[in-house]
Amino acid sequence: MLIKVSLPNMSGAGTEKINLLGLDRQAMEEYFHSIGEKSYRAQQVLQWIHQYGIHDFHAMTNLSKTLREKLTALTTIMLPDIAYENTAADGTHKWLLRMQDGNCIETVFIPEDDRGTLCVSSQIGCTLNCDFCSTGKQGFNRNLTTAEIISQVWLAVRKLSKNQSKHDHAITNVVMMGMGEPLLNFDAVISAIKIMLDDFAYGLSKRRVTVSTAGVVPAIYQLREKFDIALAVSLHAPNDELRNKLVPLNKKYPLHKLMTACKDYFREDNRRYITMEYVMLDGINDTPMHASQLLRVLNGVRAKVNLIPFNPFPHTSYQRSTPTTIRQFQEILLNAGMITTVRKTRGDDIDAACGQLVGQVHDRTQRNKRYLQKIALPSS
Ligand code: SAH
Repeated sequence: MLIKVSLPNMSGAGTEKINLLGLDRQAMEEYFHSIGEKSYRAQQVLQWIHQYGIHDFHAMTNLSKTLREKLTALTTIMLPDIAYENTAADGTHKWLLRMQDGNCIETVFIPEDDRGTLCVSSQIGCTLNCDFCSTGKQGFNRNLTTAEIISQVWLAVRKLSKNQSKHDHAITNVVMMGMGEPLLNFDAVISAIKIMLDDFAYGLSKRRVTVSTAGVVPAIYQLREKFDIALAVSLHAPNDELRNKLVPLNKKYPLHKLMTACKDYFREDNRRYITMEYVMLDGINDTPMHASQLLRVLNGVRAKVNLIPFNPFPHTSYQRSTPTTIRQFQEILLNAGMITTVRKTRGDDIDAACGQLVGQVHDRTQRNKRYLQKIALPSS
């Protein structure tokens, strides 16, 4: 089922209007201050935008008429287009969102009995080129702005709310596990997370917002300085040799550095765990020897392991481990006292499963190279 939906967008395109959708509380207060308004207006506008889903300033009835006109003249609330949306047999819902520049990203909602998780993208494409990930194979175009990141939550909330005017929606958790590496788009991601956590916006608990990283070690320390939100690490291999191949970022930040950063992350809270994601690739990383190595690598880290059955995509040479292999691997970890779950594959009939998010990324190779140089990552 493909539905074309029209939503407000592009108003103000090509002008210098500031997009209020991308301002966290502090930035919003600073903006109101700069136009000679009281800072409490920031809270009101945040609530209108994020809790009531209002994008027409004239409907913001607790603002004076003059202020509404001022905001209309100076600012905009600009949202991406929903290019397509689609629901899988298991209720997983995927949106393809078209940004102002024509690039597309994907956002996925995964309903479960006791929660609703929104999987959010942080970049258009990805620079990291993990060998088993289809996003990596598409190249990289650019970082998303804070407005583009939070617009995924805004749109999903609106589309999932039964009563669109009320703040009752199905999203209880957000995971930054869509396209891109969130910690390589640090500032925009931090601002977007602030909006997710803000009681005047989405009011999500820090335990229910997860940043997933392939292991950008310095940014893990920086994230910890900002807030102790949930962290997932895409580990996927229990030794450097194999991880260098599966997650090339490992050449820059090898396992011992990554594990040191992980040990530090929840140093003040001994009830919380980092989720170690481990994609199960047939014959590659799924033997009992790998399980034993993994236990050694995770020794002393407050970790739980989430085994992810590999989702194949066109032209990949990898295959999913068999259910028996996955169960045996899980048992070795469980027997050693490691909390270990196996992720249910969701939404694969609509290509919404992990690693299958295929937006239309136009790889600007030169731009990609320059970007890699800027952040000093190995380009192979
Ligand atoms: N860059 C971040 C977030 C994006 S990937 C990171 O690396 O964590 C989010 C998760 O999707 C990763 O844990 C990755 O393991 C998983 N994933 C990617 N491709 C996959 C595939 N083909 N099958 C199963 N999981 C995949």
